[in-house]
Order: sequence, then C-alpha cells, then structure tokens
Amino acid sequence: MKRTKINDIFAPELIGQKVLVKGWVRTRRGNKNVQFVALNDGSTVRNIQIVFDLGKFSEDDLKAVTTGSSLAVEGTLVESMGKGQTCEIQAESFELYGTADPATYPLQKKGHTMEFLREKAHLRPRTATFGAILRIRSSLAFAIHKFFNEKGFFYLHTPLITGSDCEGAGAMFQVTTLPLNNIPKTETGEIDYSKDFFGKPAALTVSGQLEGELGATALGAIYTFGPTFRAERSFTPRHLSEFWMIEPEMAFYDINDNMDLAEEFVKFCIQYVLDHCRDDIEFLAEHFDKELIPRLEFVLHNDFVRLTYTEGIDILKASGNKFEVPVEWGIDLQSEHERFLVEKHFKKPVILTDYPKDIKAFYMKQNDDGKTVRAMDVLFPTIGEIIGGSEREADYNKLLARIEELHIPMKDMWWYLDTRRFGTVPHSGFGLGFERLMLFVTGMANIRDVIPFPRTPNNADF
Ligand code: ATP
Ligand code: MN
Repeated sequence: MKRTKINDIFAPELIGQKVLVKGWVRTRRGNKNVQFVALNDGSTVRNIQIVFDLGKFSEDDLKAVTTGSSLAVEGTLVESMGKGQTCEIQAESFELYGTADPATYPLQKKGHTMEFLREKAHLRPRTATFGAILRIRSSLAFAIHKFFNEKGFFYLHTPLITGSDCEGAGAMFQVTTLPLNNIPKTETGEIDYSKDFFGKPAALTVSGQLEGELGATALGAIYTFGPTFRAERSFTPRHLSEFWMIEPEMAFYDINDNMDLAEEFVKFCIQYVLDHCRDDIEFLAEHFDKELIPRLEFVLHNDFVRLTYTEGIDILKASGNKFEVPVEWGIDLQSEHERFLVEKHFKKPVILTDYPKDIKAFYMKQNDDGKTVRAMDVLFPTIGEIIGGSEREADYNKLLARIEELHIPMKDMWWYLDTRRFGTVPHSGFGLGFERLMLFVTGMANIRDVIPFPRTPNNADF
C-alpha cells in the first residue's frame, strides 16, 4: 500500500478509505478502552490522530509507542468526533520502526523554552515550532527564486572563497591550509602565503556584491542567494556568523528603481508566505506572537516611507527621546534609532537614503554635495535594518579617487574597476539578510531560531 503524507490526509474524498501513514509520535493518551496517538511526519504542522482500540491491540503492543518513537500505521480514515479534528485513523495494524526511551528522549515533554531547544539543535526540527519555521524557510527561499525568475533576473553563483579582502562589509574568516603549528615564514619573517593553498591570503566571503556587479554589467540583472560569513563577535539577536544573503544587482537602475524593487520584493515574499504557509504562520501566531499576522498585513498594505538620513536625524533629534547612542549627524544609526523611526514615529517601514559617505562603503554613488552617498537602507518594525543597498558609483575617476582616499589596495581592485573602465553604466543593488526576513515573517525574536544550524561565536557544533 502507498503511503499518504499527513499533509494530504485531510482531503474529504479519503474519508472511508484505507490509508497508510508514517511518522513520529508526538503524544499518546487515552484510557483502558482506547488509546489516541498524535502522529506527525513533518509535512504539515497538523498531527493526525490515530485511534487504537484496545479490543484489537493490547497495552503491551502499544508499550513502546511513546513520544518520539516512529511508526507506520494502516487503518481506515474516518470523520472525527473530537473537536478541532476533521478526521482520524482507526488503526488496523502498525509497525514500530524505532523506539524513543522516555527516560532519555530530550523532547519528551512539551513546552520547552527556545533556549533549551537551542541546546538540542540536532533534534529541535522534530518540534512543532521548528517544523513550522523550517517549512516557512523553505517556502520563502522558493518565493525568492520565483520573484526574480519571473522578473527575468539571472541567478548568479558568486564564490564563497575570495582572495580579495576589501569587500568591506565585515571581519572575515581566513581560509588556509598552512600548518598552524609550523607556519612557513619568508626571509623577513612574514607569513609566506606563497606556500598557502591559493598562493595568497584567502577568506570566506562577506558579500557577493562585487562579483554580482560583474554579472549585472553583462547579463543586465542578476541576483545571488547564498551563504555569507562574518567573523564579528556580535552577540545580538540579529547577527549570525554564517547567514544567507540575497543580493540583486541591476544595470540601468537608479536609486529610485532600486527602492521600488526592494519594496516590491519584500512584499511579494510576505504575501507568498501568507498564501502558502498559512497553517504554519497561524501556529506561530497562536503560540508566540498574536500580532504576527496583522503586522505582516500592515506591511503589505502600506507604502514604505522614504526619506533622507539627514531628515531622519532631524526627526530623532526633535523627538526628545533619550537614546543610548546620542543622535548627531554623521553617526551610524543603531537599531534603537531605526526602530524609533519605524515603530514610534512613522509606524511604517522606512527607507532611509543619502547617508554620510564616511559610514558607507566605497562603491556607493557620491552625491553632488560631497558629503553623502546614494545609499538606501530598508528599516522594519522589530528588526531594524533588513536591507542595505545603494546606487553604485559608475564614474571610474570618482570611484578610483574614493579607493585611494580609503587606502584600499589596488592589487585587489583592478578587476572591479574594469567594470567602470569598459562600458560603465548606471547600476544599483542591495543585500537582504535572509534570516532577518525570516525573523520578520515568523515573528521569532532571536535569529538563532530561524536557521536550522546557527553558527555564532563559540558555537559550530549543533
Ligand atoms: P548591521 O548593521 O545590522 O550589522 P550591516 O550594515 O552589516 O548590518 P550589510 O553589510 O549592508 O549589513 O548587509 C546586508 C544585509 O545582510 C543587512 O541588511 C542584514 O539584513 C544582513 N546582515 C548583515 N549582517 C548580518 C549578520 N551578521 N547576520 C545576519 N544577517 C546579517
Ligand atoms: Mn554588520
């Protein structure tokens, strides 16, 4: 007999049919006449109730059917009397695949804290909460590919190992095969990287953007979607050492086109998840965050407010609010400032533009005022920065001057400058942190809980 996934079992036409389901036991309860098992196979947040008639099965048969054990059950699908259930399976036979000793199974009880589950990261996908999160994560990734594919963007695979240390977005993890207990040295006592695997220092990428620009200035519009690594010791609930980033890069887009795309993109993703992951979103809303669905709908139905950094600073100053980092033109905005603008002042997502050039990367297009660049950051309620982007400096001489001003080594930059030397075009792009978007759509509070296996300082096991 063919197995039916639990996600497909709630179809009215299956009532009265014989079915075979396989999964893991969430709970077993009952009395001396009948036992009820809630079975889940990961295909949906919903469990199917299996009814074991103790006239047909003995207590002894069911002894090893405990929380966490795995089963195949054959039986008849019938309409259910129990409230909240549409149907259940009257068991006729079952096979126990594997037991889960109640004395040692870590997820024996319900209602664990997220902190506890982080310690059991190898098993937490089996919980209802993480099942919901991981299914949403999968759908959201699919939505991202769908959005760009339908817009005619090409998916570009940029390298994870890079030989240029000037991506500028954060501290890097070095990649080396040199023996750390016996590092080869040159005559002058420096590390002899000519003996290293790539013949020079190499590191894990902090952003695919620079290579993305090579793609955009050839294919017209590309996006990357891959792992990104930052060796920063930040212990915030919004930073991971390994995270996934989506970086579209578009020829012939100015900053306004860029903002339009960013807004359309995040709205598409949110709508997709509401349409395709309704059960999971409702589960998370019910258990963690009653405001989740209204908040998602609010973002969908409102235009993002667009204003300049300078206007933003003026609002923060005039607010009279006391911030941990005092507000002054030129500061790098902290999450507290971003969230004030979004949650208290505008009560809408905000796109801030035209930041001081000193706090932004060298490749951003310089404005005529000599002080600001054509950057755009999208700021979201509860998250703060979710997207960082800009129109790129397309003028060879201006870009070169900025590179020299910042003492970025030319030996690393010649290939990037060639995009401006040959057939340069106005172009723009942005980076969206996949897990930041996941935080928003799931309502989770900690970024460690929206990625299957989080990597953070001192944590690379499970
Ligand atoms: P932040 O100020 O929040 O550290 P950033 O300015 O370093 O962000 P960018 O370099 O612009 O961010 O990266 C683009 C996007 O990648 C950010 O808008 C954010 O969504 C995401 N991002 C950046 N750093 C991390 C991280 N350590 N973990 C998860 N996502 C991140
Ligand atoms: Mn950062």
